[in-house]
Formats: sequence, structure tokens, C-alpha cells
Amino acid sequence: MRIYSLLLLFLLIGSNTIQPTFKKVTVAKQAVFSFIFDDLNTTDSLVKSIFDEFGLQPSFAITTNKLNSKTALLYKSYAEEGISILSHSHTHPKMNNSSSLDREAVLMELKDSKERIESYGIPVHGFVTPMSYMRPEFLSLLHTEYDYAFTNNHNDLYDTSVDKQHLARFGIESNISTSDHSIEKIMSRIDQAIKNKELLVLYGHALPSNYLDDLGNSRVIANDLRAILRYLKSKSDNNECLVLSSDLAIEAYYK
Ligand SMILES: [Zn+2]
Repeated sequence: MRIYSLLLLFLLIGSNTIQPTFKKVTVAKQAVFSFIFDDLNTTDSLVKSIFDEFGLQPSFAITTNKLNSKTALLYKSYAEEGISILSHSHTHPKMNNSSSLDREAVLMELKDSKERIESYGIPVHGFVTPMSYMRPEFLSLLHTEYDYAFTNNHNDLYDTSVDKQHLARFGIESNISTSDHSIEKIMSRIDQAIKNKELLVLYGHALPSNYLDDLGNSRVIANDLRAILRYLKSKSDNNECLVLSSDLAIEAYYK
């Protein structure tokens, strides 16, 4: 009898442990690209005008301690055109493993920055973590505030298996040639994303970039951005991908 009970117990445990839990993963129909420019720089208007040349839309992740009634007017007009405005925190603190920030401080940064942007009548759905990476224990704080977030908890994946709060981006500044402005590496990453039907969000900062190349010149200049957009525009005109401002890009990719 005792052996029978034990067997029954094993069977019960076994049937519980082998119960598969399937996460529904849909495969995207095509690659989706988006661009985000961080930090709220005075050159954001130049970025916007270059995107206008190609009939495309960028997105801006703004650090709200630089947002005031004067700067907000510009971003509100962008939002009214359909350009996504994301929060990039209020004071731009590190939220990674070396950070001394606690959960309450992170939550304040998440809430406060969102409220400040919304107070100017600008909708906010996305968040970009300062310095790219958010410590996993903070991730649960995002859900009540944001539909999606770039936190670099993506396991090197750029597809629909990635949770919308765990997204990562691809840096224009870190992937352009340091010697001759070649965008070859960026073009081949774009090709790969198209082949694998990925969601690839590129990002930059000021234009010209404050990051310097081997010659001490700005690593990314306006014509580099034009070259990237020209390449991507040719792909999108050929129906190989979508290029969208980030709220729409996330919506289209995860639908
Ligand atoms: Zn930043």
C-alpha cells in the first residue's frame, strides 16, 4: 500500500512537472525599424528636418529635467504629427547593477518624468533606460507606467519572443566606422534584420554626434544619417520592411 501511494505521488508530481507552459509567440510578418534620439538635444530639430527629407519619422526620448514650457512646444508639435515622445527619466541616473538607486527612487524617475511630459499634453507610452541597461529587479516597476521599454534584458533577441519591457536598441554612433564614416556595418545589420524579420530600433544623440572618431571629428554627421535613411527608405519603398516612429513600430511588430 505504501509503495502504491508513493507511486501515485510520483505520478502526480511527474504530471505536474511535465505540464508544458506554452508562451504564445507570433512570428512577425516583416522587419520593422525605428529611430530614437535620446536626451533632449537642441539638435533634435535638425534630426526632425532630415527625417522630413525622406518622408520618415524619428522618435525622441527626453530627459525631463531639460523639458520646460519653451522646449515642450516643439515636442508637442512633433507628437501632433505622429512622432513618438518617450521618457528617458527625469535626472538620467544609472539604473544598472552599479547603481545605488533603490526601487522607490527608480519608481519616482519613471512616474515623475511621465507626468511632466503628459502635463504639456504630450502622450507617452515608452521608456528608454539611461545608459541602456536596467537591473532586472526594477523591471516590474515599468508595467504600471509604460507599454514598452528599452531596458536591454532581451537575451540578444530582436523578435516577438522578447517582452515589450525588455527591448534593446542598436547604436548608430557605436556602429559607424571610426575612420571614414562608412555605414557598411549598419547596412549589413539592417539586411540581417530584414532577413530575420526583426524589430530593430536604432538610436543616436546629438547631431553632429558628441562622440568622436579616430581623427577627432564628430563620429556621426548629418550626411551619415541621410545615408542610413536613404538605404532604409529604398528597402521600405521595396516593401521589405516598415520604418515607423516607435509607438507605431512596437504596435505594428507585436500585433
Ligand atoms: Zn541618455
